[in-house]
Amino acid sequence: MKFTIHHIDNQTSARTGEIITDHGFIATPVFMPIGTRGTVKAVNTSELKAIDARIILGNTYHLYLKPGHELIGRAGGLHEFMNWHDTLLTDSGGFQVFSLAKLNKVDDDGVEFQSHIDGSKHFFTPESSMEIQQHLGADIIMAFDQCPAGQSDYQTVEIAVERTTKWMKRCSAYLNENKGIHDWGQNVFPIVQGNVYEELRQKSAEELIPFATCGMAIGGLAVGEEKSAMFETIEKMDELLPKDQPRYLMGVGRPTDLVRSVKRGVDMFDCVLPTRNARNGQLFTSAGIVNISNEQHKEEFIPVDEHCSCDLCKNHTRAYLRHLMNVNEILGHRLASLHNLTYYMNLMETIRREITAGTFDNWSHNFLKSMLEQKGM
Ligand SMILES: [Zn+2]
Repeated sequence: MKFTIHHIDNQTSARTGEIITDHGFIATPVFMPIGTRGTVKAVNTSELKAIDARIILGNTYHLYLKPGHELIGRAGGLHEFMNWHDTLLTDSGGFQVFSLAKLNKVDDDGVEFQSHIDGSKHFFTPESSMEIQQHLGADIIMAFDQCPAGQSDYQTVEIAVERTTKWMKRCSAYLNENKGIHDWGQNVFPIVQGNVYEELRQKSAEELIPFATCGMAIGGLAVGEEKSAMFETIEKMDELLPKDQPRYLMGVGRPTDLVRSVKRGVDMFDCVLPTRNARNGQLFTSAGIVNISNEQHKEEFIPVDEHCSCDLCKNHTRAYLRHLMNVNEILGHRLASLHNLTYYMNLMETIRREITAGTFDNWSHNFLKSMLEQKGM
């Protein structure tokens, strides 16, 4: 994997660049749609290609439970299994274990948990997370980390930071000793923890930088902390992380969060918001949020967003989408998901264009001024 920076903004920490993996190239800053269980919900891979998605995510915890990483390995890896031949990223399973499963025991060795599906018992270690991700075969894989809740006290977070470093060492040792089962390159990103505690962020970054060869992730944010504290932490990370590697801010977020984080030097994002909110009838548009279930849209025979060129906006009205969602038709979910993903892809393209043109600071100021007033943006 190779990362090249193309433009660095004069006024902010924003930059454009390009990541090249064995499966393709990705213009940064980039938003990565989430394909939790081997599909971006309600959207197929040719539709993702059509909106110029170049990298999507798979979730290790879910794919390990169903259909199983060994089966996916036998299918030729997740690329082949889901017919996605561009770049893939898988998380380590850690975040889902801590947020979805019933935890039985967490110690330095690993995490014993019960499946949220059937209560069956499992044990994740740094080594098993690497082994599972080698079967899945994503181009970018994540180190196994411990992500404490947003309001955790200092001591809890300190333990998680220290454990995350110990686990990083074990991930790295496992990858050095075990080649994996596919014949393309897999690149591991360490995940910096520390919640909003500056000292712990610094400690975590310093301990993990020696393991960073191709990129680093900022974990442990957007987990319930104050938004202002989140941005202060991202700013701190901008000073601490290597400039010549992509920075991946995990699980963030809203369109305004993306713009504010790009300003602070972030290159990669993922979040379930565009697809999850689409299924709940919340649409992101150039004029702000449209909640399609609202009565006011009942007889609006106009597009959701007249500036959008997706199938929904080109071919259908707000009234029609509202009806589809009201009667729970699958097409409503599909059209809304594609629209929101199109919005996110277009937003990232605009961000890259503005950085390249040297006008990002001014553009982002205007964008945030108009959008921050709107709840949900
Ligand atoms: Zn649209």
